[in-house]
Amino acid sequence: MALGEFALIERYFSGAKPAGILGVGDDAAVMGVAPDHQLVVCKDLMVQGRHFFADVEPASLGHKSLAVNLSDLAAMGARPSACLLGLGLPSIDQEWVSEFSRGFVALCERWNCPLIGGDTVSTSGDIFISVTALGTLPPGTQDLRRSAARVGDDLWVSGYLGAASVALEILFGHVSASQQTLQSLRSALEWPEPRVTLGQRLLGLAHAAIDISDGLTQDLGHVLKASNVGAVVWPDQLPVDPQLAGFYPELVRRAVLQGGDVYELCFCAPASNRLAIEELGRDLKIKLTRVGEIIEGKDLLLQSADGIRSVVQPKGFDHFGEQP
Ligand code: ADP
Ligand code: MG
Repeated sequence: MALGEFALIERYFSGAKPAGILGVGDDAAVMGVAPDHQLVVCKDLMVQGRHFFADVEPASLGHKSLAVNLSDLAAMGARPSACLLGLGLPSIDQEWVSEFSRGFVALCERWNCPLIGGDTVSTSGDIFISVTALGTLPPGTQDLRRSAARVGDDLWVSGYLGAASVALEILFGHVSASQQTLQSLRSALEWPEPRVTLGQRLLGLAHAAIDISDGLTQDLGHVLKASNVGAVVWPDQLPVDPQLAGFYPELVRRAVLQGGDVYELCFCAPASNRLAIEELGRDLKIKLTRVGEIIEGKDLLLQSADGIRSVVQPKGFDHFGEQP
């Protein structure tokens, strides 16, 4: 029998009953915030045909729709505390919703970020997903806001770059690759791992951070503009995903510098914290690479191994702009 809106919410989205929180099922959720903590809130909207293919594995879509928000919290240094899910569906396909919910809830549980509410509506065709995530910052900490980079800071990147963007190029048919290569690159695109712990551990070590959702040069450009500084990036030092070894170098270079959907953190930290950051990377088993430095000015410069510098225009994904 067809499932209605309320039965759907009851069956797939009211599993967690976190202690001390009034969650799914009332007009609004109610929860406490620990004394003197700051609330950090973000929201992302994902639209079929724009952010995901209609036939994408629904469990990965559930995962990713929360992951991109946890990544934004991480880029502020916040600890996740809860999330809300807005879902627009053309019809109720129970198998799809069940898989979507499985991917979503697994990530909620992993980061102790219960689903406490949302809204569910029917649409005339496409699927829409909007997640709001709430997090907190402990007293006495300074968030990792974009405007806080300082001249002399080291520039760091977590993890590896480029795989998600090349996966997308293959899926669009612009680049060819074996099924096996596509499968492994695809997981970077569809199952991104938000750097939740890293973001929190950078509080007190880094000044500013951003998650690379729209491409390194574009996202770093936001930090430079907000902080009124420039940067030098050493392209030879950028952590290229090892899976991209066999691809055409120009494609890889573009994927690494401009490719979106990465969800790694790019952060600026004083050189005096260099050893502590290297130690943090070892502790968390996350590759942390120093890729440049913050300088005076407003330009983003690429500096090759022989010292030649060139200015790059920040490029990456812009919904209403020209595409790179
Ligand atoms: P209202 O009409 O007051 O907006 P709804 O009937 O839309 O309430 O929602 C009923 C309850 O179910 C609310 O607690 C709401 O937060 C929750 N809810 C609705 N959709 C979702 C969803 N997709 N995921 C989690 N909770 C949801
Ligand atoms: Mg409603």
